[in-house]
Amino acid sequence: MSGIRKIGVFTSGGDAPGMNACIRAVVRTAVFMGIEVVGIRKGYQGMLDSDFWDMDARSVGNIIHLGGTILKTARCLEFKTDEGTEKAYNNLKSKGIDALVAIGGDGTARGAERLSSRFDIPIMCIPGTIDNDLYGSDFTLGFDTATNTVIEAIDKIRDTAASHNRLFFVEVMGRDSGCIALRSGIAGGAEAVLLPERETAIDELIEKLSLDARNKKTSSIVIVAEGDKSGGAYQLAKRVTEKFDFYDVKVTILGHLQRGGSPSSFDRVLASRLGFAAVKGLIVGNSRQMVGLRGNSVVMTPLGEALNFTHFKLEEDLMEMVSVLSI
Ligand code: ADP
Repeated sequence: MSGIRKIGVFTSGGDAPGMNACIRAVVRTAVFMGIEVVGIRKGYQGMLDSDFWDMDARSVGNIIHLGGTILKTARCLEFKTDEGTEKAYNNLKSKGIDALVAIGGDGTARGAERLSSRFDIPIMCIPGTIDNDLYGSDFTLGFDTATNTVIEAIDKIRDTAASHNRLFFVEVMGRDSGCIALRSGIAGGAEAVLLPERETAIDELIEKLSLDARNKKTSSIVIVAEGDKSGGAYQLAKRVTEKFDFYDVKVTILGHLQRGGSPSSFDRVLASRLGFAAVKGLIVGNSRQMVGLRGNSVVMTPLGEALNFTHFKLEEDLMEMVSVLSI
């Protein structure tokens, strides 16, 4: 046993639906095990400002269904400096915090690795980001909800597209990862999906859309990840329209609405499992681990290893399926 008496929990970087469910799981598991919990507001910034909240089981009542994060989140440059990291550690020690659970994306995990490798404080990381781009977990918190939000939007866009012979370019989140684009493209029945992981072949896209038109398709939906190398949905629409004018072309940028909303049942269960496992892991002496889901099992991956890989390798079989299923 580790002798941990007080755990700090925080959310950091981009917010994601499911973070609240995860905070709830961390707090209640710790309280159940007789360990005190301190919420740290605004991630690493809150460590620097000693923005602490003594939490109990009631502090996390009625939040499992809420998007966003009750602990707030922030980006903090000062923490990246040697002085900043040391100040954060000293503030945690002054508050009596023995161990940490960090919920966030790649940057948050890098910060955790920095803190725990320089100072003697055990940390567990939980992958919380809608992008699904972390190694060590098949799925990250928020990805399922964000994809469902995108599908809901595509379904609505489809109604108007089909009524007017329209071609829609729908831009979704994903600067470096096309995971949301690919999954929502399949689930939304898109004609094509354009991703940062692959060069966009405009001529190929136009050929595909022309063939669809010859095959009597009256509307088309193309999903574009924001990191697509051709410069985003507006740029693409312009380039396609110059060469192909069969359809009335429209663009929709879904933007930040993809981050919000009530988490799906998948995200709530995932958040609960990972939060529960992170606290139990700390109690038995684990540290510097990414707690994730592989297959249907909760697994731990050493942070150093997790941060050496990018999770999302383009799933070629899914890309092939997009073209086959959209004939
Ligand atoms: P995300 O966790 O969603 O990837 P960011 O990349 O913005 O979000 O990271 C969140 C915060 O984590 C940053 O504002 C910074 O405080 C901290 N952080 C990110 N990268 C590092 C790093 N290499 N070293 C120390 N702290 C980092």
